[in-house]
Amino acid sequence: MPLYLGVDDTDSLRGMCTTFLATELVRALSEWDLIGYPRLVRLNPNIPWKTRGNGAICLRIGKGRGAGFRVGSIDGGDVFAYERGTETAPSEGIAAIAARVVERWSALEDPTTNPGLVLLRKPPPPGLYWRAVRDVVRKRDALRAIRGLGLRREWKNGRGVIGAAAAAAWRPRDRTYEVLAYREPSRWGTPREISATSVRGLDARFPSTFNNYDPDDDRVVITPRTPCPVLCGIRGDDPQELPAALASLGGERPARWLVFETNQGTDDHVLRDPRAARPWTTIQVSGTVLREPRTLPGGHVVFPLRWREPIDVLAYEPSKGFRAVVRALAAGDSVRVVGAIRTTPRSLNLEKIEVLRLAPVLRPAGNPPCTACGRRMKSSGRGAPYRCRRCGTTRPRSDAVLLESPRQIAPGRYEPPVGSRRHIAMPLKRLPRTR
Ligand code: ATP
Repeated sequence: MPLYLGVDDTDSLRGMCTTFLATELVRALSEWDLIGYPRLVRLNPNIPWKTRGNGAICLRIGKGRGAGFRVGSIDGGDVFAYERGTETAPSEGIAAIAARVVERWSALEDPTTNPGLVLLRKPPPPGLYWRAVRDVVRKRDALRAIRGLGLRREWKNGRGVIGAAAAAAWRPRDRTYEVLAYREPSRWGTPREISATSVRGLDARFPSTFNNYDPDDDRVVITPRTPCPVLCGIRGDDPQELPAALASLGGERPARWLVFETNQGTDDHVLRDPRAARPWTTIQVSGTVLREPRTLPGGHVVFPLRWREPIDVLAYEPSKGFRAVVRALAAGDSVRVVGAIRTTPRSLNLEKIEVLRLAPVLRPAGNPPCTACGRRMKSSGRGAPYRCRRCGTTRPRSDAVLLESPRQIAPGRYEPPVGSRRHIAMPLKRLPRTR
């Protein structure tokens, strides 16, 4: 079994990126081989103390056996990984090399950066990953899960060991890949030279890729908006297509790139049993729309859903066109929603919606005919019964003629535009392959 090297909480909002640190670890540990792809593991997206996407990394290292396969390129040299490796014991030497890389590349001066590193002879129990991706894990529980398995290093409050250990605990049930490309240091902070046209064509040229381009917003999504070393990241289901997809972009040449195995786009964070719902978890629930959605100041759209008790479901302004889907719902519609539970105000932040059944929406289409003489009756005031002017017959308001309105939405699945999806949320493009 290879060694499991997990690292987390190294970056700040002002730059850097834990995945870049992975490339530095690969460089510094070149005496060892990578066993399998490097891993980028996203954890609970609702954790309030995350920097951005709550991502941790795990490298499996050892002495490779058999033929290697290319997983990256760093400063002109190919990076290979191996399917299997010989047994390697966690050593103070390896931990010291990794710790030096963490110290060199972490934003330690940032008060919210609390790096952690683990070096384990085998992965911790998988339950640690599932808890960390779906719920909140206490540091002492993470430490208990790795007890006796190897070494750890912490900086400042060392909260990063939670993510580092959870990344090492990941045994993929479902997986995707991402090729991350990094810029020449002299270009960090300058505009990225990637042509929007070449990104627009990525889905067509490489159908196994996803989340490349946002047609609703005409926005390239593969490039970050921060001044970090990342040039771009292309996500997909086929790791072998990703280097070619990257090369097909032209434009700025990356100084290095690495293909990561990830849990992005898997929906691993979604609790299937809504009874386990708690603040900061993401759940999938089915229920009935209780009232017509309304738009709040700021552009968010909200509707009450009948679930255990009524709960407000919110589609936030950044989800742009997705809100039109939500606005088209009506009382009585039956839906299945995926969303994150928020405590104050108690609500469900919508990630995805499936419209299961549409309720008929009826609108008044005129006064009823008189039951005695057949003439159209007249209204005799708000809330008052209808009255026939000729024979005086009355009919209650509930006898108004109603017509079914055409609906602006059809049953089916809907998701926010590419640019406002969570890293770990499964894009609808992947659904048919996995369900
Ligand atoms: P980036 O995406 O830029 O790498 P980030 O969003 O991953 O940054 P971090 O700086 O890594 O954010 O901070 C996340 C912190 O939360 C880490 O210290 C990690 O150990 C911790 N953490 C992650 N998941 C959980 C969880 N489920 N419960 C408790 N703590 C967690």
